[in-house]
Amino acid sequence: MRRFRERIGVRELVDVHTHFMPERVLRKVWAYFDGLGPLTGGIEWPITYREEERQRVARLREFGVRAFTAMLYPHKPGMARWLNGWAAEFARRTPDCLHTSTLFPEDGVHTYVQEAVEAGARVFKAHVQVGAYDPADERLDPAWGLLADAGVPVVIHCGSGPAPGKHTGPEPIARVLARHPRLRLVVAHLGMPEYEDFLDLAERYTEVRLDTTMAFTDFSERFAPFPRRALPRLAGLGDRILLGSDFPNIPYPYVHQLHALERLELGDDWLRAVCHDNAARLFGLDRDVPGRPTSRP
Ligand SMILES: [Zn+2]
Repeated sequence: MRRFRERIGVRELVDVHTHFMPERVLRKVWAYFDGLGPLTGGIEWPITYREEERQRVARLREFGVRAFTAMLYPHKPGMARWLNGWAAEFARRTPDCLHTSTLFPEDGVHTYVQEAVEAGARVFKAHVQVGAYDPADERLDPAWGLLADAGVPVVIHCGSGPAPGKHTGPEPIARVLARHPRLRLVVAHLGMPEYEDFLDLAERYTEVRLDTTMAFTDFSERFAPFPRRALPRLAGLGDRILLGSDFPNIPYPYVHQLHALERLELGDDWLRAVCHDNAARLFGLDRDVPGRPTSRP
């Protein structure tokens, strides 16, 4: 990890897609992966970092990750508010975690989203496949509007990989963006496997970003290869691609995600922007610490 950072010329990384959640929820997620459940689409998925929470946080720090998130998401109504309470507490005891919240189409969603934003939530997570809801559901409309106005980014798993859902794919997201063109959606997994459709949306809407989570890795290239012809578009969107990893739920060592980005050969400027600068700017990280030196050594 240190050699990678030195090679591209950054002191630290920002990872916008890491999973921290209440212990019993995380155990359930791991059980899904072990059982080749609906999250994996039947693909063998050995988890590399199955460790205690404290060790997982320590590992990210060791990797040189300066800021990360606690991606958590409900699969049914009545769960989001509880998850948000846990995530607020986790962010309090983990200052390098960006305070994360989530939402679900249900009564009261606008209220708890507003409360979370007022409590300092800096990023939201939405999971269209696990939640099995239409992101354009009208009950979410006021929440999307509020998040767009507040400029709070939403990392959204909306692509149909590794397993499709009833509402995954670009079409429902296009409907959300038609109504909320300034919503700061961060399309998780680069929209895998509908990469090009989600690149279309990012090119159309200037607040749409994409995270790299699991994209370009040997693992994902086997079932959802990124089309080489779209590489120039990644270069063109270089200020809106953000490093994401899916740590700890990954079937390979963390550094493989970085090597997978490096071997695209889009250059060190692109890598520095993706692995640090774009997220630092989006989350105002350098404003947090007045006088903090720039990330470049
Ligand atoms: Zn994830």
